[in-house]
Amino acid sequence: MNLVEFKNVSRSYQLGEVSVTALQDVTLNIPKGAFTALVGPSGSGKTTALNLIGCLDKPSQGEVMVAGQAVSTMNRKQGADFRGEKLGFVFQDFNLLPVLTVFENIEYPLLMIRDMPKHLRHPLVEKVLAAVSMENQADKYPAQLSGGQKQRTAIARALVGNPLLVLADEPTANLDGATAKTVVELMKQMRDEFGTTFVFSTHDPRIMDQAELTFHILDGRLEDAPAKEVTHV
Ligand code: ADP
Ligand code: MG
Repeated sequence: MNLVEFKNVSRSYQLGEVSVTALQDVTLNIPKGAFTALVGPSGSGKTTALNLIGCLDKPSQGEVMVAGQAVSTMNRKQGADFRGEKLGFVFQDFNLLPVLTVFENIEYPLLMIRDMPKHLRHPLVEKVLAAVSMENQADKYPAQLSGGQKQRTAIARALVGNPLLVLADEPTANLDGATAKTVVELMKQMRDEFGTTFVFSTHDPRIMDQAELTFHILDGRLEDAPAKEVTHV
């Protein structure tokens, strides 16, 4: 079963007189459970694609389906409900709340989005804390953590509501090479453990080959294969 489907998706932005095409006629399928990378240089359209999957943006043309639902036609409220229920997000700059502890950051979506009572929240937070090996850092604040620990916390927060799909936009861009690798390995382990589909974007050659399914994007278009040679004139 495909979890994500793009059917002839284009997205352009109108900036005054000028139209900028961020994605052009992209058709792709991501099967459920696939550990997937969107790879391309800066400005190629990766964030645009993730925002469309995450119901944060709508295509100018074409259709985006996630878990069998046409997210491209959802209204704001439907999109927000869908995100809260089905999706988790991981960001380049971690986006942890500095005044909350590791535990509280992870608990936050259950409290604020799902309005879940404490006796149900706490076991879920403890489970994902242990899964990302952060159980001994639960009472620390983000400022007391290394970059890798911050991203482990963010991955736990993305997973705590047991989403179908985690979207990670350049999750390793602010990490050193060795830490970047362990963070991607952790995401893959989480896929194995919880069955969550992961789609991450990157332009880092050191981590893109850890994906099982890779889509190369250049200037808003999908490339057929990695390192494609231009053979015709
Ligand atoms: P990437 O994430 O691969 O760096 P983006 O998806 O952010 O690429 O951007 C793709 C293209 O779309 C770029 O040319 C960018 O400048 C343009 N773009 C993205 N968002 C907007 C926006 N809100 N308004 C205008 N242009 C945008
Ligand atoms: Mg981007």
